[in-house]
Amino acid sequence: MTIAQMNKEEAREFIEAIRWPDGPICPHCGENGAYTLKPKEGSKRPVRPGVYKCKECRKQLTVTVGTIFEGSRIPLNKWIMAIYLMCASKKGISAHQLHRQLGITYKSAWFMCHRIRYAMTQPPLVDKLAGIVEVDETYIGGKKRGGKRGRGSENKTLVVAIVERGGELRAQKMNRLSSKNLKGFIRKNVSQGAQVVTDEFQSP
Ligand SMILES: [Zn+2]
Repeated sequence: MTIAQMNKEEAREFIEAIRWPDGPICPHCGENGAYTLKPKEGSKRPVRPGVYKCKECRKQLTVTVGTIFEGSRIPLNKWIMAIYLMCASKKGISAHQLHRQLGITYKSAWFMCHRIRYAMTQPPLVDKLAGIVEVDETYIGGKKRGGKRGRGSENKTLVVAIVERGGELRAQKMNRLSSKNLKGFIRKNVSQGAQVVTDEFQSP
C-alpha cells in the first residue's frame, strides 16, 4: 500500500505505529498502557476508532493529541499526503496546489500548509538556528576589578552566544576568540540559509 492509497483509519494506524512503537502513551500523564474504549453494553453510540483511555489518569486520548493534527477535522490520510507532498517537492508546494491535488478546500489546505511548515522548523526536524542569527561575544568574571576590558582581558572567561532573532540562544565558553573557533561554533549551531550578523567578524 502506498501513502496515497491509505484511508483515514489506516493513516491513523500509521501515525500510531510511528509515534507509539510500544503502544499508546498518555499525553496527559505520560503513562504507558492506555486501552481501547469499548462501547457500553446496550449503547447505540459507536466508539470512535483510535480513542484510548489511560489506565492511570482515566483521561481519553488519541494519537493526535499534542501534534499538529490536533483539533483538525481534516482526515489524517490527507494530512499524511500533504506532508509527503511538501517534503517531496524541492521547490515547496503552495496551499493552492495542495487544495487541487488533495481535493480539499483551500482553507483546509492553507491551514495544513501553515501547520506543516511550522512543524518543519521544530526539533527534531530542525535543531539548528535559522533566520537572522546574531553572534555576540562576552567576557565574564575575572579577578581584578577595573582591568582591561574586551578581547584581551585577563582572568576572564570568554563566552560566545548565538541568538536567533525571536528565538533560541546557544552559548559556549571559548578559550580563544579565533575565526576558526567561531566558524566551528556557528557551523554546528546555525543552519546554512541563516543570515549571520556579527559585531566584529565577517560572516563565514
Ligand atoms: Zn494518563
